[in-house]
Amino acid sequence: ARRFFVGGNFKMNGTKESIKAIVNNLNEAKTDGDVEVVIAPPALYLEVARDEVDKFNIKVAAQNVSDKPNGAYTGEISVAQLKDIDIRWTILGHSERRTLLGETDEVVAAKTKAAVDGGISVIWCCGESLQEREAGNTVAVVEKQLAALAAKLSGEDDWKKIVIAYEPIWAIGTGKVATVQQAQEVHEAIRKWLAKNVSEKVADETRILYGGSVNGKNCKDLAKEKDIDGFLVGGASLKPEFVDIINSNL
Ligand code: 13P
Repeated sequence: ARRFFVGGNFKMNGTKESIKAIVNNLNEAKTDGDVEVVIAPPALYLEVARDEVDKFNIKVAAQNVSDKPNGAYTGEISVAQLKDIDIRWTILGHSERRTLLGETDEVVAAKTKAAVDGGISVIWCCGESLQEREAGNTVAVVEKQLAALAAKLSGEDDWKKIVIAYEPIWAIGTGKVATVQQAQEVHEAIRKWLAKNVSEKVADETRILYGGSVNGKNCKDLAKEKDIDGFLVGGASLKPEFVDIINSNL
């Protein structure tokens, strides 16, 4: 069985104090110890969050990492630098970086390969725009994103370091959560694609998270679906209800 996984993407929110408070709240809350929890604060608070966590099943992630090892890349952070401060996870390919910062499928795939080669696990994001959904292209868009990733990864060991987050862009920060059926349908398509194009084993073992307006209320029904293995949470990860989302599978 796949271990349930809940990610918190803080995006460009928080202060030293508020991030400490969020982590403290998680430390003190009764959270399901079987769930893998990964929180992603802004880069400059990675160490603050890392120092504050005192639960074995909560890890800290970056929101981005460079595909280059070092050098003249102003504003970027390398895989080795994350490891230097004991950070073992990163989000990559979030739609905000794809659309606002021009990251292509190939750039995201190159970053993902650099991360897994360096021993960093990746919450790899994919998902369609409203226009793409309305044109009936949802699965095709996600499959194209997956194909770019699969072309870069070398095999099952690389895939072991990947958690997929399906985040329909129209559901992110809009309060318009995908229906249980809409989410399950795409998750199933992703798993089928993996079975056909990578391996049955990878299809069976890879966690596929749903992201987009997940909250303490809608998480329970989504969590029941057979191909939904957890969530990537934005806004609600900054609030006490994040605990309810972590516990959605109880
Ligand atoms: P919201 O949960 O705020 O919709 O954001 C989802 C997201 O983008 C997580 O990466």
